[in-house]
Amino acid sequence: MLQKCEGIVIRTTDYGENNKIVTLYTREFGKVGVMARGAKKPSSRLSAVTQLFTYGHYLFQASSGLGGLQQGEMISSMRSIREDIFLTAHASYIVDLTDKVTEDKKANPFMFELLLQTLNYMNEGYDLEILTFIYEMKMLNVQGLYPVLDRCTNCGSTEGEFHFSIRDGGLLCHRCFETDPYRIKISPGTVRLLRLFYLLDLSRLGNISVKPETKAELKKVISAYYDEYSGLYLKTRKFLDQMDSFRDRL
Ligand SMILES: [Zn+2]
Repeated sequence: MLQKCEGIVIRTTDYGENNKIVTLYTREFGKVGVMARGAKKPSSRLSAVTQLFTYGHYLFQASSGLGGLQQGEMISSMRSIREDIFLTAHASYIVDLTDKVTEDKKANPFMFELLLQTLNYMNEGYDLEILTFIYEMKMLNVQGLYPVLDRCTNCGSTEGEFHFSIRDGGLLCHRCFETDPYRIKISPGTVRLLRLFYLLDLSRLGNISVKPETKAELKKVISAYYDEYSGLYLKTRKFLDQMDSFRDRL
């Protein structure tokens, strides 16, 4: 049976001389793997539509295993992402994270929309780090992780100054600071943004301007939380960190 879908290429692997195995994240079916026969040949009509990050309409032959890609019609090649190494590094991490935290053939239109919007915003030149933080915060629930951001994890208080406790998985108020000597010290601005990113409807993202110190705090908290709870070790994350420190030295 032929199936139509709207999808984004989140992974490609060469297969044999001429073929590619392409992983699409689709609006209709969630993550789907398809074989794109001949797609490695530049002359193939499947060549352009199977490039990483491409957004388009796809037609594939469904099967219990790997489907066969029949046709693709490009909506966006995400060209700016592909042409810039920093953009590519961030977007590669985003699609890799999506691939790792999702199961095959489990539709999640909310996640499709989030992925599409994030890549579109990156392609249009929005702040890469902010978009990556938001995506990471929004992917937590998908992984069954629920950081406590609306109150102190220890006493439940919603008032006061807050730091972040990795051990307790959330905010810790100033009355409870001493219960975790390893808590991460963060500013009130960072607390606000962690909450905002966790809850924000991405389609309502305006121009958020964030100070470098605040970005550094956000990165510290989100990275440490992922390291502790996600169980993921992504090469694309490591590459992204290397690119960021490289850029900071420029
Ligand atoms: Zn407390």
